[in-house]
Amino acid sequence: MLLSAQATDVGVNKATARLYPVANTPQAIIDLGIDQLKAHIKTIGLYNTKAENLMKTCHILVDQHGGEVPDTRQALEALPGVGRKTANVILNTAFGHPTMAVDTHIFRVSNRTGIAKGKNVVEVEQKLLRHVPKGFLQDAHHWLILHGRYTCIARKPRCGSCIIEDLCEYKEKQRSLSGQVAIFYILRAKLATPMAWYLAVQDALQDRLATDAAAHTALLECRHSDK
Ligand code: SF4
Repeated sequence: MLLSAQATDVGVNKATARLYPVANTPQAIIDLGIDQLKAHIKTIGLYNTKAENLMKTCHILVDQHGGEVPDTRQALEALPGVGRKTANVILNTAFGHPTMAVDTHIFRVSNRTGIAKGKNVVEVEQKLLRHVPKGFLQDAHHWLILHGRYTCIARKPRCGSCIIEDLCEYKEKQRSLSGQVAIFYILRAKLATPMAWYLAVQDALQDRLATDAAAHTALLECRHSDK
């Protein structure tokens, strides 16, 4: 987590693939020393600052937490380079707490869809924690990130292939691709035989229906919960 800011997953994975075989515990990183630590992670952005923070963090973990990562927000946020979002990710993925780490993707998706509108990440986080049904809380932040990363992308959201297009409140929602597909098939049908028209429309409808029913149900429950 400490290495990932402003770096790609691929870059971080390459750095940790070099680092972990030689040092994969706080004490081992301390023993490695700051110069060697920098040498192992120098391919990722801001590596000097990250190495300094990581080394300070390792000292705190060894001195105050027996070499283990603490499982409370207060102790996590006291570590160098760890803010609210990072603490939420650690609490969620390492300790199974139902936290919501609001990043740029979740912030955008929450505001666009109307699930949890807010002026800042804390506001969005608090609303998501209230609105998302308990059964989905553990994994919701992963789903929202993936939705923002691959479908509800920042510059040009892919509303036409979005499984929650019918529930989304985004005013600038793009015209449904399913609608465009239907128009295409209808126009094509004018030039085709009735049977071809029937088969084409059937294909279009099946495409539209091939959605993730569970995710759709989850969002419906969010939308109908207390706002
Ligand atoms: S319909 Fe468009 S704006 Fe709404 S969530 Fe889907 S991709 Fe995002």
